[in-house]
Amino acid sequence: MSTFTTPAILLRRNDFGDYDLIITFLSLSRGKISVIAKSAKKSTKRFSGVLELFSAMEIVCREPRSKGLPVLEEAALRHPFAGIRADINKTAYASYWAELVQGWIEENEKQVGLYRLLEYVLKQLDGGMVPEAALSVLFQMRFMRWCGFSPNLTNCSACRADISQTLKNDLAVDISKGGILCDHCAAGAPLRMVLSKGTIKQLIWAESGNIAKAGRIRFTPQALREGQLFLEEFVPFHLGKKPRSLSFLKQLRR
Ligand SMILES: [Zn+2]
Repeated sequence: MSTFTTPAILLRRNDFGDYDLIITFLSLSRGKISVIAKSAKKSTKRFSGVLELFSAMEIVCREPRSKGLPVLEEAALRHPFAGIRADINKTAYASYWAELVQGWIEENEKQVGLYRLLEYVLKQLDGGMVPEAALSVLFQMRFMRWCGFSPNLTNCSACRADISQTLKNDLAVDISKGGILCDHCAAGAPLRMVLSKGTIKQLIWAESGNIAKAGRIRFTPQALREGQLFLEEFVPFHLGKKPRSLSFLKQLRR
């Protein structure tokens, strides 16, 4: 019977009957996968307690005989990221990112870049050296690009005009059109939200180049505030559903 081995990050656990768990991982070699962990619910000893949310591990799974899910045979911890689970704010951020991956990524499609992105933000969140809001801006910008829904931050989202020549510092945003508006198109539109030019520049940096470099961006407090407000409306709108964990995150901030 064939097995496969891969690094994987635990996104979600669900009870399955009285004894088993169904676990969703983002894996390095197969993308998002759901597997069944037999007796994991009944006995934490079965997997030595490593099957915790957001932990990174090396898993060994047996392919299903015909239909059904692969069966988890072994799980060896690589990074417990225990600092996340010990802190409610960090847990809320990680839950939001995990829910985005869980809800909007197809199963069984290898996504190495996405795996590296999630691993990176979880590691930084656990380490506590980078502000949580900065990691979340970084994750959302790069996740949306991964999904093919990058916000439009260089041209007017209505008439496509280049906005680099505009003299205004604050640009109006139309979430439903996908990003910023030029002065002409913004005139008359209800101004609900703006992004300053400085924020736009930092959001574009966050989305491009290599992750370790983007992770060193020092966002200004204004860019963090504006970027977070913008992305937490933009992401649910363009994915078509509001993540439950995002509501929880917003509640915590109040
Ligand atoms: Zn325009």
